Amino acid sequence: MAEIEKVKCLIIGSGPAGYTAAIYAGRANLAPVLYEGLQPGGQLTTTTDVENFPGYPEGISGPQLMEDLRAQAERFGADVRFGLATASDLSKAPYRITIDGEKEIETESLIIATGATAKYLGLEDEKKYAGMGVSACATCDGFFYRKKVVAVVGGGDTACEESIYLAGLASKVYLIVRKPFLRASKIMQERVLKHEKIEVLFEHNAVGLYGDNGVEGVNLVKRMGEADEERYDQAIDGFFLAIGHNPNSEIFKPYVDTDEVGYIITEGNTPRTKVAGVFAAGDVADSHYRQAVTAAGSGCKAAMEAERYLSEKGLL
Ligand code: NDP
Repeated sequence: MAEIEKVKCLIIGSGPAGYTAAIYAGRANLAPVLYEGLQPGGQLTTTTDVENFPGYPEGISGPQLMEDLRAQAERFGADVRFGLATASDLSKAPYRITIDGEKEIETESLIIATGATAKYLGLEDEKKYAGMGVSACATCDGFFYRKKVVAVVGGGDTACEESIYLAGLASKVYLIVRKPFLRASKIMQERVLKHEKIEVLFEHNAVGLYGDNGVEGVNLVKRMGEADEERYDQAIDGFFLAIGHNPNSEIFKPYVDTDEVGYIITEGNTPRTKVAGVFAAGDVADSHYRQAVTAAGSGCKAAMEAERYLSEKGLL
Protein backbone atom coordinates (compact mmCIF):
# COMPACT_ATOMS: atom_id res chain seq x y z
CA MET A 1 0.00 0.00 0.00
CA ALA A 2 1.26 3.49 -0.85
CA GLU A 3 2.64 5.50 2.04
CA ILE A 4 0.23 8.00 3.58
CA GLU A 5 1.44 11.58 3.35
CA LYS A 6 1.22 13.47 6.64
CA VAL A 7 0.68 17.23 6.77
CA LYS A 8 -0.14 19.80 9.44
CA CYS A 9 -2.56 21.91 7.47
CA LEU A 10 -4.53 20.78 4.45
CA ILE A 11 -6.62 23.25 2.49
CA ILE A 12 -9.18 22.03 0.00
CA GLY A 13 -10.29 24.51 -2.60
CA SER A 14 -8.67 27.30 -4.61
CA GLY A 15 -11.06 30.22 -4.53
CA PRO A 16 -10.42 33.40 -2.54
CA ALA A 17 -11.09 31.50 0.72
CA GLY A 18 -8.62 28.69 0.01
CA TYR A 19 -5.82 30.92 -1.28
CA THR A 20 -6.21 33.45 1.52
CA ALA A 21 -6.09 30.61 4.05
CA ALA A 22 -2.92 29.40 2.30
CA ILE A 23 -1.31 32.87 2.48
CA TYR A 24 -1.96 33.10 6.22
CA ALA A 25 -1.07 29.47 6.93
CA GLY A 26 2.13 29.80 4.88
CA ARG A 27 3.19 32.94 6.74
CA ALA A 28 2.46 31.15 10.03
CA ASN A 29 4.81 28.30 9.07
CA LEU A 30 2.06 25.66 8.89
CA ALA A 31 3.51 24.36 5.57
CA PRO A 32 0.03 24.25 4.04
CA VAL A 33 -0.81 21.88 1.22
CA LEU A 34 -3.67 23.11 -0.98
CA TYR A 35 -5.63 21.02 -3.48
CA GLU A 36 -7.20 23.08 -6.20
CA GLY A 37 -10.20 20.92 -7.04
CA LEU A 38 -12.05 20.65 -10.33
CA GLN A 39 -11.97 24.35 -11.13
CA PRO A 40 -8.58 25.82 -10.19
CA GLY A 41 -9.14 29.40 -9.06
CA GLY A 42 -12.79 28.70 -8.30
CA GLN A 43 -15.84 30.59 -9.47
CA LEU A 44 -14.03 33.87 -10.04
CA THR A 45 -12.18 32.34 -12.97
CA THR A 46 -15.56 32.24 -14.70
CA THR A 47 -16.22 35.91 -14.19
CA THR A 48 -15.02 38.92 -16.16
CA ASP A 49 -14.38 42.07 -14.20
CA VAL A 50 -14.37 42.06 -10.45
CA GLU A 51 -15.19 45.62 -9.48
CA ASN A 52 -15.82 45.17 -5.79
CA PHE A 53 -12.65 43.53 -4.46
CA PRO A 54 -10.98 46.24 -2.35
CA GLY A 55 -7.68 47.55 -3.65
CA TYR A 56 -8.49 47.62 -7.37
CA PRO A 57 -9.99 51.02 -8.20
CA GLU A 58 -10.15 50.12 -11.89
CA GLY A 59 -11.39 46.54 -11.25
CA ILE A 60 -9.46 43.37 -12.05
CA SER A 61 -10.33 40.32 -14.15
CA GLY A 62 -11.43 37.29 -12.13
CA PRO A 63 -8.73 34.96 -13.56
CA GLN A 64 -6.01 37.57 -12.92
CA LEU A 65 -7.12 38.06 -9.33
CA MET A 66 -6.97 34.32 -8.74
CA GLU A 67 -3.55 34.03 -10.37
CA ASP A 68 -2.29 36.80 -8.09
CA LEU A 69 -3.74 35.12 -5.00
CA ARG A 70 -2.16 31.83 -5.96
CA ALA A 71 1.24 33.46 -6.56
CA GLN A 72 0.96 35.20 -3.19
CA ALA A 73 0.17 31.88 -1.45
CA GLU A 74 3.10 30.15 -3.17
CA ARG A 75 5.43 32.97 -2.23
CA PHE A 76 4.86 32.05 1.41
CA GLY A 77 5.48 28.37 0.85
CA ALA A 78 2.01 26.97 0.14
CA ASP A 79 2.25 23.71 -1.79
CA VAL A 80 -0.50 24.17 -4.40
CA ARG A 81 -1.46 20.95 -6.16
CA PHE A 82 -3.91 19.85 -8.82
CA GLY A 83 -6.34 17.24 -7.49
CA LEU A 84 -9.84 16.71 -6.19
CA ALA A 85 -10.75 15.58 -2.66
CA THR A 86 -13.04 12.61 -3.19
CA ALA A 87 -13.55 11.21 0.33
CA SER A 88 -12.98 12.18 3.94
CA ASP A 89 -12.72 10.51 7.32
CA LEU A 90 -13.04 13.14 10.02
CA SER A 91 -14.03 10.68 12.76
CA LYS A 92 -10.77 11.25 14.65
CA ALA A 93 -7.60 13.34 14.35
CA PRO A 94 -5.42 13.21 12.37
CA TYR A 95 -8.04 13.48 9.65
CA ARG A 96 -7.88 11.44 6.49
CA ILE A 97 -8.61 12.88 3.03
CA THR A 98 -8.57 10.92 -0.23
CA ILE A 99 -7.42 12.74 -3.35
CA ASP A 100 -8.65 11.64 -6.79
CA GLY A 101 -9.91 8.38 -5.30
CA GLU A 102 -6.41 7.06 -4.64
CA LYS A 103 -3.95 9.20 -2.73
CA GLU A 104 -4.41 9.35 1.05
CA ILE A 105 -3.38 12.36 3.11
CA GLU A 106 -3.41 12.58 6.88
CA THR A 107 -3.75 16.09 8.26
CA GLU A 108 -3.76 17.55 11.75
CA SER A 109 -5.95 20.46 10.66
CA LEU A 110 -8.27 20.86 7.71
CA ILE A 111 -9.66 23.93 5.98
CA ILE A 112 -12.65 23.19 3.77
CA ALA A 113 -12.91 25.91 1.10
CA THR A 114 -14.63 23.92 -1.62
CA GLY A 115 -17.06 26.65 -2.66
CA ALA A 116 -20.31 26.07 -4.48
CA THR A 117 -21.27 24.79 -7.94
CA ALA A 118 -23.78 26.14 -10.45
CA LYS A 119 -27.32 24.76 -10.36
CA TYR A 120 -29.28 23.54 -13.37
CA LEU A 121 -33.05 23.52 -13.82
CA GLY A 122 -33.11 19.72 -13.98
CA LEU A 123 -34.45 19.46 -17.55
CA GLU A 124 -33.51 16.39 -19.56
CA ASP A 125 -32.66 18.74 -22.42
CA GLU A 126 -29.94 20.41 -20.34
CA LYS A 127 -28.08 17.11 -20.38
CA LYS A 128 -28.96 16.38 -23.99
CA TYR A 129 -27.47 19.68 -25.15
CA ALA A 130 -24.59 19.86 -22.66
CA GLY A 131 -21.67 21.41 -24.50
CA MET A 132 -23.98 21.97 -27.49
CA GLY A 133 -25.57 25.23 -26.49
CA VAL A 134 -26.16 24.80 -22.74
CA SER A 135 -23.79 26.48 -20.32
CA ALA A 136 -23.66 27.70 -16.73
CA CYS A 137 -20.78 30.06 -17.38
CA ALA A 138 -21.16 33.02 -19.72
CA THR A 139 -17.56 34.10 -19.44
CA CYS A 140 -16.33 30.61 -20.32
CA ASP A 141 -18.61 30.09 -23.30
CA GLY A 142 -19.92 33.49 -24.34
CA PHE A 143 -17.23 33.76 -26.98
CA PHE A 144 -19.05 31.13 -29.07
CA TYR A 145 -22.17 33.27 -29.31
CA ARG A 146 -20.87 36.37 -31.02
CA LYS A 147 -23.67 37.98 -33.02
CA LYS A 148 -26.02 35.16 -31.99
CA VAL A 149 -29.15 35.03 -29.86
CA VAL A 150 -28.93 33.68 -26.32
CA ALA A 151 -31.13 33.22 -23.27
CA VAL A 152 -30.10 33.51 -19.64
CA VAL A 153 -32.22 32.01 -16.84
CA GLY A 154 -32.36 33.67 -13.42
CA GLY A 155 -33.18 36.95 -11.75
CA GLY A 156 -30.26 37.48 -9.35
CA ASP A 157 -26.99 39.37 -9.65
CA THR A 158 -25.33 36.50 -11.49
CA ALA A 159 -28.06 36.39 -14.15
CA CYS A 160 -27.85 40.15 -14.63
CA GLU A 161 -24.07 40.12 -14.78
CA GLU A 162 -24.04 37.26 -17.27
CA SER A 163 -26.70 38.94 -19.40
CA ILE A 164 -24.69 42.14 -19.60
CA TYR A 165 -21.53 40.23 -20.44
CA LEU A 166 -23.31 38.23 -23.16
CA ALA A 167 -24.97 41.37 -24.54
CA GLY A 168 -21.45 42.59 -25.33
CA LEU A 169 -21.02 39.63 -27.67
CA ALA A 170 -24.42 38.40 -28.78
CA SER A 171 -26.93 40.20 -30.97
CA LYS A 172 -29.78 39.65 -28.49
CA VAL A 173 -30.17 38.35 -24.94
CA TYR A 174 -33.44 37.11 -23.44
CA LEU A 175 -33.38 37.08 -19.66
CA ILE A 176 -35.88 34.48 -18.44
CA VAL A 177 -37.18 35.38 -14.97
CA ARG A 178 -39.77 33.25 -13.21
CA LYS A 179 -41.09 36.05 -10.96
CA PRO A 180 -42.53 39.44 -11.95
CA PHE A 181 -39.37 41.14 -10.62
CA LEU A 182 -35.59 40.80 -10.49
CA ARG A 183 -33.91 39.87 -7.24
CA ALA A 184 -30.59 41.44 -8.25
CA SER A 185 -29.13 44.58 -6.67
CA LYS A 186 -30.61 47.90 -7.86
CA ILE A 187 -27.56 48.89 -9.90
CA MET A 188 -27.56 45.58 -11.81
CA GLN A 189 -31.31 45.76 -12.39
CA GLU A 190 -30.95 49.22 -13.87
CA ARG A 191 -28.13 48.16 -16.16
CA VAL A 192 -30.14 45.21 -17.44
CA LEU A 193 -33.43 47.01 -17.86
CA LYS A 194 -31.92 49.86 -19.85
CA HIS A 195 -29.70 47.69 -22.02
CA GLU A 196 -30.93 47.82 -25.60
CA LYS A 197 -29.89 44.25 -26.42
CA ILE A 198 -31.44 42.64 -23.32
CA GLU A 199 -35.13 41.76 -23.20
CA VAL A 200 -36.39 40.62 -19.80
CA LEU A 201 -39.11 37.98 -19.99
CA PHE A 202 -40.80 38.25 -16.59
CA GLU A 203 -42.99 35.40 -15.31
CA HIS A 204 -41.50 33.01 -17.82
CA ASN A 205 -40.19 29.48 -17.30
CA ALA A 206 -38.02 27.47 -19.65
CA VAL A 207 -39.46 23.96 -19.87
CA GLY A 208 -37.44 22.44 -22.73
CA LEU A 209 -34.97 23.00 -25.53
CA TYR A 210 -35.05 21.94 -29.15
CA GLY A 211 -32.72 21.70 -32.10
CA ASP A 212 -31.23 19.14 -34.46
CA ASN A 213 -27.67 20.38 -34.25
CA GLY A 214 -27.35 21.76 -30.77
CA VAL A 215 -29.73 24.27 -29.22
CA GLU A 216 -31.92 26.07 -31.75
CA GLY A 217 -34.63 27.26 -29.39
CA VAL A 218 -36.26 27.17 -25.98
CA ASN A 219 -39.79 26.13 -25.06
CA LEU A 220 -41.25 28.80 -22.82
CA VAL A 221 -44.26 29.03 -20.56
CA LYS A 222 -45.49 32.51 -19.76
CA ARG A 223 -47.69 32.86 -16.70
CA MET A 224 -50.69 35.09 -17.30
CA GLY A 225 -52.61 35.88 -14.17
CA GLU A 226 -53.51 33.24 -11.60
CA ALA A 227 -54.55 30.32 -13.76
CA ASP A 228 -53.68 31.13 -17.33
CA GLU A 229 -50.50 30.50 -19.24
CA GLU A 230 -49.18 30.79 -22.75
CA ARG A 231 -46.71 28.34 -24.29
CA TYR A 232 -44.44 29.37 -27.12
CA ASP A 233 -41.04 28.68 -28.60
CA GLN A 234 -38.26 31.23 -28.88
CA ALA A 235 -35.38 30.68 -31.30
CA ILE A 236 -31.99 30.93 -29.53
CA ASP A 237 -28.48 29.61 -30.12
CA GLY A 238 -27.30 29.42 -26.53
CA PHE A 239 -28.95 28.73 -23.17
CA PHE A 240 -27.21 29.96 -20.02
CA LEU A 241 -28.12 29.02 -16.46
CA ALA A 242 -27.62 31.56 -13.68
CA ILE A 243 -29.99 30.31 -10.98
CA GLY A 244 -27.67 29.92 -8.03
CA HIS A 245 -25.32 27.35 -6.63
CA ASN A 246 -25.02 24.20 -4.53
CA PRO A 247 -22.35 24.08 -1.81
CA ASN A 248 -19.67 21.43 -2.34
CA SER A 249 -19.94 19.80 1.06
CA GLU A 250 -21.00 16.25 0.14
CA ILE A 251 -17.92 14.35 1.32
CA PHE A 252 -17.88 16.11 4.70
CA LYS A 253 -21.58 15.76 5.51
CA PRO A 254 -21.25 12.67 7.73
CA TYR A 255 -19.02 14.65 10.11
CA VAL A 256 -19.93 18.34 10.07
CA ASP A 257 -23.33 19.98 10.44
CA THR A 258 -24.96 21.35 7.29
CA ASP A 259 -28.19 23.26 6.67
CA GLU A 260 -31.02 21.95 4.48
CA VAL A 261 -29.27 23.07 1.29
CA GLY A 262 -25.89 21.65 2.33
CA TYR A 263 -24.04 24.76 3.49
CA ILE A 264 -21.66 23.87 6.33
CA ILE A 265 -22.74 25.33 9.65
CA THR A 266 -19.96 26.93 11.66
CA GLU A 267 -19.87 28.22 15.23
CA GLY A 268 -21.17 31.78 15.41
CA ASN A 269 -18.98 34.20 13.56
CA THR A 270 -16.04 31.77 13.33
CA PRO A 271 -15.04 29.18 10.70
CA ARG A 272 -15.01 26.41 13.37
CA THR A 273 -17.08 23.33 12.53
CA LYS A 274 -18.18 20.91 15.23
CA VAL A 275 -15.04 18.83 14.54
CA ALA A 276 -12.01 20.25 16.39
CA GLY A 277 -9.31 21.31 13.93
CA VAL A 278 -11.69 21.29 10.94
CA PHE A 279 -12.68 24.70 9.60
CA ALA A 280 -14.96 25.81 6.77
CA ALA A 281 -14.38 29.01 4.83
CA GLY A 282 -15.91 30.77 1.84
CA ASP A 283 -19.06 29.89 -0.08
CA VAL A 284 -19.29 26.31 1.18
CA ALA A 285 -20.23 27.80 4.54
CA ASP A 286 -21.88 31.02 3.41
CA SER A 287 -25.31 31.00 1.85
CA HIS A 288 -25.74 34.70 2.42
CA TYR A 289 -22.84 36.99 1.46
CA ARG A 290 -21.02 34.81 -1.12
CA GLN A 291 -18.56 37.52 -2.09
CA ALA A 292 -14.88 37.17 -2.97
CA VAL A 293 -13.91 39.53 -0.18
CA THR A 294 -16.04 37.81 2.47
CA ALA A 295 -14.66 34.44 1.34
CA ALA A 296 -11.11 35.80 1.61
CA GLY A 297 -11.90 37.12 5.09
CA SER A 298 -13.18 33.77 6.28
CA GLY A 299 -10.14 32.02 4.76
CA CYS A 300 -7.95 34.29 6.86
CA LYS A 301 -9.95 33.45 9.98
CA ALA A 302 -9.74 29.70 9.23
CA ALA A 303 -5.94 29.81 8.94
CA MET A 304 -5.64 31.78 12.19
CA GLU A 305 -7.88 29.23 13.91
CA ALA A 306 -5.83 26.37 12.48
CA GLU A 307 -2.65 27.92 13.79
CA ARG A 308 -4.15 28.36 17.25
CA TYR A 309 -5.46 24.80 17.25
CA LEU A 310 -2.13 23.30 16.18
CA SER A 311 -0.20 25.39 18.67
CA GLU A 312 -2.53 24.42 21.55
CA LYS A 313 -2.02 20.76 20.62
CA GLY A 314 1.75 21.28 20.62
CA LEU A 315 1.98 20.39 16.93
CA LEU A 316 3.90 23.45 15.71
P1 NDP B 1 -29.44 34.12 -6.30
O1 NDP B 1 -29.80 33.01 -5.39
O2 NDP B 1 -29.35 35.49 -5.77
O3 NDP B 1 -30.50 34.20 -7.48
C1 NDP B 1 -30.92 33.06 -8.16
C2 NDP B 1 -31.96 33.48 -9.17
O4 NDP B 1 -32.30 32.33 -9.94
C3 NDP B 1 -33.23 34.03 -8.55
O5 NDP B 1 -33.74 35.07 -9.34
C4 NDP B 1 -34.14 32.82 -8.59
O6 NDP B 1 -35.48 33.14 -8.72
C5 NDP B 1 -33.69 32.13 -9.85
N1 NDP B 1 -33.99 30.69 -9.82
C6 NDP B 1 -33.59 29.78 -8.90
N2 NDP B 1 -34.06 28.55 -9.22
C7 NDP B 1 -34.77 28.71 -10.36
C8 NDP B 1 -35.50 27.84 -11.18
N3 NDP B 1 -35.58 26.53 -10.89
N4 NDP B 1 -36.10 28.34 -12.27
C9 NDP B 1 -36.03 29.65 -12.56
N5 NDP B 1 -35.34 30.54 -11.84
C10 NDP B 1 -34.72 30.07 -10.74
O7 NDP B 1 -28.11 33.63 -7.02
P2 NDP B 1 -26.97 34.47 -7.74
O8 NDP B 1 -26.06 33.43 -8.25
O9 NDP B 1 -27.53 35.43 -8.70
O10 NDP B 1 -26.27 35.28 -6.59
C11 NDP B 1 -25.75 34.61 -5.43
C12 NDP B 1 -25.17 35.65 -4.48
O11 NDP B 1 -23.99 36.23 -5.04
C13 NDP B 1 -26.12 36.81 -4.21
O12 NDP B 1 -25.99 37.20 -2.88
C14 NDP B 1 -25.63 37.87 -5.14
O13 NDP B 1 -25.94 39.18 -4.70
C15 NDP B 1 -24.12 37.62 -5.14
N6 NDP B 1 -23.49 38.08 -6.39
C16 NDP B 1 -22.89 39.28 -6.37
C17 NDP B 1 -22.26 39.77 -7.50
C18 NDP B 1 -21.60 41.10 -7.41
O14 NDP B 1 -21.72 41.75 -6.39
N7 NDP B 1 -20.85 41.51 -8.42
C19 NDP B 1 -22.25 39.02 -8.77
C20 NDP B 1 -22.94 37.77 -8.69
C21 NDP B 1 -23.53 37.34 -7.54
P3 NDP B 1 -36.37 33.72 -7.51
O15 NDP B 1 -35.97 35.15 -7.36
O16 NDP B 1 -37.73 33.51 -8.02
O17 NDP B 1 -36.05 32.88 -6.30
